[in-house]
Amino acid sequence: MDTNKVTNFQSLREAVGKFLLGKKTVLIPEMNRTGAHLFAATFRGFGIKAKVLETYKGLDLGKEYTSGKECYPCQVTMGDILQFLKKEKETLGEAFKPEDYVYFLPESDGPCRYGMYNKYQRIVLDSFPGLERLKICSLTATDGYATGGMLAEDRILSFKKAGYYSFVVADILDRLLWRIRPYEKESGMADEFIERSMRVMAEAFETYAAKKAFSRILDKLEDLIKEGKTIIDPEIPRKPLIGIVGEIFLRMHVHSNQDLIRVLESHGAEVVNASLAEWINFVSYDGLRRAKKGFRLNLKELCLTHMKTHLKKMLSFGTDLHYQEWRLKQVYKRIRPIIDLAEDHKISHLEKVLKKTDLFSFDMETEACLSIAAILQYAREGYNGVVNVYPFTCMPGTTTSAIVKPVMDERRVPYMDAPYDGSCQPGNEAAIRTFMYQAFQHLKIHGRKGTQK
Ligand code: SF4
Repeated sequence: MDTNKVTNFQSLREAVGKFLLGKKTVLIPEMNRTGAHLFAATFRGFGIKAKVLETYKGLDLGKEYTSGKECYPCQVTMGDILQFLKKEKETLGEAFKPEDYVYFLPESDGPCRYGMYNKYQRIVLDSFPGLERLKICSLTATDGYATGGMLAEDRILSFKKAGYYSFVVADILDRLLWRIRPYEKESGMADEFIERSMRVMAEAFETYAAKKAFSRILDKLEDLIKEGKTIIDPEIPRKPLIGIVGEIFLRMHVHSNQDLIRVLESHGAEVVNASLAEWINFVSYDGLRRAKKGFRLNLKELCLTHMKTHLKKMLSFGTDLHYQEWRLKQVYKRIRPIIDLAEDHKISHLEKVLKKTDLFSFDMETEACLSIAAILQYAREGYNGVVNVYPFTCMPGTTTSAIVKPVMDERRVPYMDAPYDGSCQPGNEAAIRTFMYQAFQHLKIHGRKGTQK
């Protein structure tokens, strides 16, 4: 590591942002496995080379090049990219050209640290000779993850729509796994089936996404769901239903959360995790909300220029949200008659839930709004327990815990915090067992009301 280069902050402006991808290979971190693979397939469908980074193999490197004060997902992704580049350099030798790749690392603005991951990782990459030529492609939640500048102008909108669709389908495959695995006829059937299904759907995205042939993709998904349903053993009675919320990376990255869903299942649970699409909808909803607020403020002051800016944002975020919600509804409408998968919460409904209880406000932003509201909603829907997953020291995760714990106590709904930082916590297993005991008691007393809203 050439420490002299660590002070070169110019590259934060020049080598982090949106770049025309052209013939470069996009490197996608594996946050949730299915989502990353379907998203990479969508890129390929649009003629862009894309590969998913192998994950958690480079954690030692991630820890070596962070101080320990960063959020855990930053350490994990740091390790993933360094490990990939190290291996690629070893394999290609002289032919390795960092400028042939683009590292895909989106960001979200504050008040927490997610907006700093790409800056920090830029500084680290710049400290290795040659790696300053590897650009970091960063979409931002501030403009609703707009993809302008990355692809040819006439493909931007279709790519954005196809990308969102890939996340919806990935969420459904994940939910299918959590629905069938606790009831599988033979151990291992569900995992094997979902891995195979992911490949089938990746091929479908590669073939049809750029042609906007979404109905062909949906046909394939429907066939898979029908097949997946046959894995369920109807003799196994329904189990306590556990809802998971929390920080998006940790709750989706099975290595970082020590495969929490599987562990809960091994103790008798059926689990539903908050989805990726829910986060994207939240970003659009929040953008629309902010733009409306800005418009109202400037209307009072009759500031026409700012009113126009906010109006434009309202239109852009509003259109995104409308499209996303419509697409989501359309997909679930098709699969609902086949299997009872839990549907995403509508963000406007979550805000209403939060307003009613007056426990927190969407004005505070961050994932805590989503997590707190979703926990309250899970409790209302009759879930038998809720788990809040987050990286140790995560600000929204800790806020959620502080607010929700006493409320769940009062409502007598089993609740568990699950913070992770890569270390093995000796009391973890006992905490999960206790939590699941309470969930079974809850099921015995209140039954299982299912997932309907
Ligand atoms: S949500 Fe939590 S883990 Fe993620 S950047 Fe913010 S503080 Fe860190």
